Amino acid sequence: MTSDAWQEIARFGRKVVSSGLTSSRFGNISICQDGRIFITATGSMLDELDSSMVVEVSLENPCEMDKIASIETCVHRAIYLNTGKMAIIHTHSPYAVVLSMVEMEKVEPIDSEGVLFLGEVPIIEGKLGTDMLAEAASLALKSHMTCIARGHGVFAAGGTLMEAYTAACMVEHSSLVRYLANCYPQGKNLYLNQHTFKSSG
Ligand SMILES: [Zn+2]
Repeated sequence: MTSDAWQEIARFGRKVVSSGLTSSRFGNISICQDGRIFITATGSMLDELDSSMVVEVSLENPCEMDKIASIETCVHRAIYLNTGKMAIIHTHSPYAVVLSMVEMEKVEPIDSEGVLFLGEVPIIEGKLGTDMLAEAASLALKSHMTCIARGHGVFAAGGTLMEAYTAACMVEHSSLVRYLANCYPQGKNLYLNQHTFKSSG
């Protein structure tokens, strides 16, 4: 493995944990480089990664190394093969997960940055590590920066890990803002009632 691949993944592993996007044991990170995928190993702690905890797997097909790679490797592979993205961060961000369980098909940001840069966030179905989840995530990320697997977590993708990280931060921030606005007492939400925000009921 090229040394910069695991070091770059380790750098963002520390960032996603320290920023509260996921706890150390949950989530995974990968980059696509030179026709290969470098991805965190199953069970690795994202804020303590070393070169042994980042695994190289085939881009094209499942391979022997998939057994020690993240259980979500098939999802990452499908995203790379179908979207042209080059980096993926998967987190179990709490507010995004909550909204995926109370909203129907998508989470719509109401904060100005989320509206402008993130756009709507599709909620997708499929149990972890399944072909169904892989297909749904790769379809959603063709036209969106992020999606949320219902009751599970966020997949954020970009041309670089920095782009994916920014998108992961934005979806959690927008989810937090939407959640808190939704908590405001019924009938008191004077501005939002007349503008963009509509409660999912
Ligand atoms: Zn997960």
